[in-house]
Amino acid sequence: MPNILIVAGDGIGPEIMNEAKRVLDCFAGEIDFTMTERLIGGAAIEATGSPFPAETQEAAQKADAVLLGAVGGPKWDNLPLAERPEKGLLAIRKTLGLYANLRPLSIWPQLAAFSPLRPELLQNVSFTIVRELTGDVYFGEPRGVRTDENGKRTAFNTMVYSEDEIRRIAKVAFDLARKSRKKVCSIDKSNVLESMRFWREIVEEEHKAYPDIELSHLYVDNASMQIIRQPSSFDIMLTPNMFGDILSDEAAVLSGSLGLLPSASIGGKSALFEPIHGSAPDIAGQGLANPIGMILSAAMMLELSFDRADLGGKIRAAVAAALDKGLRTADIASEGTTRVSTQEMGTAIVEGVKAGR
Ligand code: NAD
Repeated sequence: MPNILIVAGDGIGPEIMNEAKRVLDCFAGEIDFTMTERLIGGAAIEATGSPFPAETQEAAQKADAVLLGAVGGPKWDNLPLAERPEKGLLAIRKTLGLYANLRPLSIWPQLAAFSPLRPELLQNVSFTIVRELTGDVYFGEPRGVRTDENGKRTAFNTMVYSEDEIRRIAKVAFDLARKSRKKVCSIDKSNVLESMRFWREIVEEEHKAYPDIELSHLYVDNASMQIIRQPSSFDIMLTPNMFGDILSDEAAVLSGSLGLLPSASIGGKSALFEPIHGSAPDIAGQGLANPIGMILSAAMMLELSFDRADLGGKIRAAVAAALDKGLRTADIASEGTTRVSTQEMGTAIVEGVKAGR
């Protein structure tokens, strides 16, 4: 029977994870799985001294999918980098061998007023950023700070991409486009960077196996403008690691709240699903957190790891129904709507899922 590893983490992680688990429980009888819970991040540091204890690593290696809340908080901010909760996140991604991060963005029409863009620009906006996760300037060598004989210091990082790294991420984007509107826009800076010229060359080579997919290219500076000017023009946006890091946060703002967006990291034996936000220590424990990003991460898990688009669709429909009823957590509340807690939003979505069966 498939096994889901649940790692709720810190801050609002456990609260929003509770709601995602209740939603998943609705599918008992429709899909068989077991859930195993383990510690990660600050909670794991408190219990074991490590942000990624051996028993979490072992459970991750055995899991068919991992659902993660969020890690981190002020309590652990002064620890050395290698001992902080965030190290747990990097370690679990590494254990699972994840090299592609998928961030779908769609706009809920009920919440359009929360977007910084005018409503007419938001029509038909639905795109996914496919970000490469293991290469680029974040991991390239040489890196460091050097001091010359006159005492002058120079700092440097190296943008490196191997052919294989580009091919495998391009394949993820093209495969995803086949299930979507069949368009891939690849982002680079090939006008000035050799590594990015190579990126474009390899993406074009890989494209030959996908004649049914339309491929276009944008320089990253232009892409950052088009996300604002014409967001509906994108379907699958393929990016190198650093450009994707920046563009995915820019794109997230269009939705109106960090609390709404899910993500998936794939490429290894099993995939990891988590909301895009952090542990929000400022609102933790008060029932203020929006659980929708976490619940939609569970929907993505059912779709991508268990091939159950039907169940993912039921969750999305239940989220839409809760928003249609005017139910809003604090981050998306406005005049004329009904303010609800994390748990009340979860209950409304659970009821919607049950009603949709
Ligand atoms: P954050 O995403 O936790 O919070 C930013 C703002 O958004 C806060 O005002 C918060 O209250 C709000 N917010 C976030 N999620 C929300 C939700 N579901 N509902 C309603 N409001 C929500 O980012 P931060 O404050 O920069 O970081 C807090 C901690 O989280 C830090 O320790 C950071 O390292 C960690 N972090 C973890 C992850 C992760 O686990 N993937 C990602 C980013 C940050």
